[in-house]
Amino acid sequence: MSDQQVELSPSRSEEAHSAQTVPSANMIYCHGCGKQIHKTARSCPHCGAASSVKTGDKSKLVAALLAFFLGGLGFHRFYLGNILLGIIYLLFCWTFIPMLIAFGECIYFLAMGQESFDRKYNFS
Ligand SMILES: [Zn+2]
Repeated sequence: MSDQQVELSPSRSEEAHSAQTVPSANMIYCHGCGKQIHKTARSCPHCGAASSVKTGDKSKLVAALLAFFLGGLGFHRFYLGNILLGIIYLLFCWTFIPMLIAFGECIYFLAMGQESFDRKYNFS
């Protein structure tokens, strides 16, 4: 009996350890409970919430290019679905301030990870 217990406990702790150190490259955060789940998972194993309700297929690069070339007119905001912001950019385009903001956003889009971009603009 005591031998079995000794054998069981190391394998258990090893299992728990490997579960904690799963590489996070393919992991996303659950919208329901905030725990890390694999990005291909249809639903969260922790809380059952649908993990990836993809609402769009917007490209980071297209957003960055639109921000760079037509950002002063808010095109990237229209593209990303922020219609109201796009209109504000358009209204103030003559001040050239939206152009400066859009240039910063272009760099921001390029610098941000695909995953965080998706979470922000492609998932509900
Ligand atoms: Zn969850």
